Formats: sequence, structure tokens, C-alpha cells
Amino acid sequence: MENRQVRAIAGARVSHVQGSEKTSHLDQHETGAKYTANQGWDLVGSFEDLDVSALNTSPWDRPDLGPWLNDRAHEWDALVVAKTDRLFRSAKDATDLAHWAEQNNKILVMVDDGLKLDFFHPQDEQDPFAVMLAKIFLILSAMFAELEGRRFVQRAQSRVRFLRPTDRWGWGIAPYTHIVIDHPSGTGKALALNPVTQPVVHDVVERRLLIEDQSMTNIAVSLNDEKVLTPRDQRRVERGEKPQGESWTVNQLMRILTSLATQGIKLANGKPVLDDEGRPVRVGPPTFSGEVWDQLQGLLKERSGEPRKRRHSTNPLLGVGKCGECGASLRQRSQTTPAGKTHRYYVCGRSPKACLGVSIRADDAEEIVAQTFLEDCGSLVVLRRVFQPGEDHSYELAEVEQTIESLREDRALGLFSGPEDEARYRDQMRALIARRDVLRALPSRVAGWIYEPTGTTYAEDWASAEVERRRKLLTEAGVVFRLHEPNQWAVEVPDDMKDRMRQASSS
Ligand SMILES: [Zn+2]
Repeated sequence: MENRQVRAIAGARVSHVQGSEKTSHLDQHETGAKYTANQGWDLVGSFEDLDVSALNTSPWDRPDLGPWLNDRAHEWDALVVAKTDRLFRSAKDATDLAHWAEQNNKILVMVDDGLKLDFFHPQDEQDPFAVMLAKIFLILSAMFAELEGRRFVQRAQSRVRFLRPTDRWGWGIAPYTHIVIDHPSGTGKALALNPVTQPVVHDVVERRLLIEDQSMTNIAVSLNDEKVLTPRDQRRVERGEKPQGESWTVNQLMRILTSLATQGIKLANGKPVLDDEGRPVRVGPPTFSGEVWDQLQGLLKERSGEPRKRRHSTNPLLGVGKCGECGASLRQRSQTTPAGKTHRYYVCGRSPKACLGVSIRADDAEEIVAQTFLEDCGSLVVLRRVFQPGEDHSYELAEVEQTIESLREDRALGLFSGPEDEARYRDQMRALIARRDVLRALPSRVAGWIYEPTGTTYAEDWASAEVERRRKLLTEAGVVFRLHEPNQWAVEVPDDMKDRMRQASSS
């Protein structure tokens, strides 16, 4: 027996054929095959147990592995799997299989766990202590796999399944805006609004963003100043732990304000889970009304298009000054003369290489802009930019179109493989396309900014305004200061804006 070539079988076991796990049995095959090749063994077979829970099924009863352990046991010498939990999830299975291997002179290898039980090669060639240790570790790791398996089963029983949507909250932590409660039906879980965090998000959206138009940075800073708990700290407190005093970040806020989870929609891998009609599945009440949510998404989208115009800054012409050569925004630069006097300049802000010669004394530029603009529009009524929510379904339409797109992607990635999946894909797609066509046919008014006349003129407002307010008057009127050279510049007010101002002033 000593010099006989070892014949190996390599296996993989995947308990749910869906999502990212779908490809994992392929990886495991590779692990087993690679190990076998490294040992110089012959790979004589493989088994692939799909959709069988190892916790409930002993190795001898599994459809593909079973035969190798029963009728075909004489065809191989070594059994190679990637991990212990791929072979069994109970300590009893482990001891049984170890015992069986000993009686049948087999080798058991769990590659990733670094475990090898060798009853194939003569025992006197091996360190008996090492064999004993391997047995102990095998049983120990099976015990841990058993524990983990129990948890896995608990989770899986009510888990979010992409292809089997329900209105139950599956598993995982609730979004910041919600808490997990028992489902009203008595089985499973659902989401309810979190009484602690709801006032926070409503204040952020309805006051700070939609009324006061604060920047995200400012909002994050004031949440920190007011010692509002971050999502993670909030969860800690809810679990009865101590908060760690973490700080809010703009990214964190953006996630909360843009994720559909905030609206009680069930997500899987960041995408809405759909029901049979292709509609997003709701697991909890929405935080905001559809109108406010649309308004919020419109505002955030608008801002992401012009991120730098929004930040409060010390650049009085931010969002107004543009390089006449390359179109980049002008930036400020200070220069100190040999006499020790410091001057502010506006220069081309292109990076890494700014346009040469595009430079003007900042005081001059600001005066030019103010004078030209006020000569042009000073007597006209100030228009205030107000976000008007769409009366249409453009947001929902965009959502449906996006869902269609992601379903197509998922399918292209091979996530719908079985005939059942394929049928579901077709049903969802048919429903979505029908929904899209209905939405497209509805009359629409796209959500966006409108201009409301105020009671005062630009000249009046300008006189009493601070730097930041002046900048806002300019940017909202669409004014651009285009600089070519120190003495060559233009102040442009868009014609449509001027028409609007004239119209508002004459009525
Ligand atoms: Zn430039």
C-alpha cells in the first residue's frame, strides 16, 4: 500500500444556490483540485452537493457525497474539501466520518482549515501525536461549525432572498431610521419607525436642507456639535452598550438620505427586492412622504451636479468666476509684494496646470461684477430659486427604468439560472416594462427649480447683503464672470434669466 498512487475526490457543498454563493462552489472545487495537484495525487472524481443543508443531512445521506462513502468507497483514497463546514456541521458527523476513515484507510483533508487525517499511509510512518491532534482539531472545528451552522440556519430561515420576496424583515441591522419589531402577523420581523432617530432625519431634511439650504458639511458639523448619536453609536445604545462618541460624516448622511432603506424598502446587495409584479417590497413604513422624498432626491442630485457652488466658502466669486480660456472655476490666490503688502487675485483654477495670464486683482474683479450686474439688473425684482416637486412620476419612472437595468445586469451575470428563476425573471420584467409604459404615458412635469419673485430689487438686496448672500444672488441669477486676461473679461447674465426677471418686475 505504501507506494500506491493516492486517488482523490474533491468536493464542494453550497447550501443555497443564489447570489454570491452561486460561484463559491466553483472556488471550492478549485481549492480541492489545486491541493490534489500539489500533493501529486490523481483527481478521480468530484462531488457537488447543492442546496442541501449539512446540518440536517449526514454525509452518508447527501445525494452526491453519499454514494462515494457507500458504494464507491473503493474507488478513492483521499477526500479533499475546502473547509470543515463544507463537509459537516455537527461534531457527531465529524467523529463518525473520522472513525469511518480510520476503518477504511482513507485520508480526509480540509484544505483551508489546514486539517489532514491520514489513515491511508501506515500509522508507524506518522507521528502518533500529530494524528491524535488532527483528530482533536477535526472534532473541535466541527463543533464550531455546528454552532455557526445553527446560527446560519436561524438567519437563513427568515433571510432576505432575492428571488423570494416577502414583506418580512429578514436579517441584518435595521436602517438608521427604523427599528426591528415583530411582524404584525405574528411570524417573522418587520420594521417600524425609530422614535429616536426620526426627529433627527426630519429636522435635517425638512428644515436644514429644504428650507435653510444648508450644506451637508454644515449639517454634519452641527449634528456633532449637538452630540447627536451616529448610526453606530445609536445601535450601541439600543443594545445597551456605551456610545463611543463617533462623529457624523457627510458620506454617512448621504447614505441615509439617498438609500431606499430609509423609505422602508427592502434591499438586497443595495438593490430593491422586487415582488412578482416587479414592485419594490416594503418592510416598514416610509420615513418621508413621496413628495418630500422626491424633493430631497432632486435637491441632492442638483447639488451633486455642482458640488463646489454649494459649499460656504471665503471665495466671494465661487460659482461665478470662470477661466475664459479653459472654463475652469477661478480660484483665489494671495501674493505678497516685496514691500510686505498682500494682494488677493483670482486666477485660473485648473489643476494641475492653470492657464497662464488669467489673473486679476480680486477687489477689481468683485467690483466689476457688482457694477456690471447692478447696472444690468439692479432695478429688477429678485428671483428666489425654489424647488418644485414634480407632479409627474419621473422619479418613479427613473426608479423603474433603473430596476429594469439592474435586473438585466443580474441576468447577464447569470444570477437567474434555473427554469424557475428564468420564469420569475420574465414575470418581473414583463410587469416592470408594463409599469414603465404606463408611467411614460402619464402627463408629466419634471421636478426642478422654479423662480419665485420676491418683493425687492437686486439693488436693494445687494446693499444690505453680506458676502455669502451676494454670492448667492449672483449664482442664482446665473451670473458668470469670464476672465481672459487682466483687462479682458465679460460679465454674463443668461438671457432666459433676464427675461424672467423682467417679466417678474413688470407684473
Ligand atoms: Zn484656465
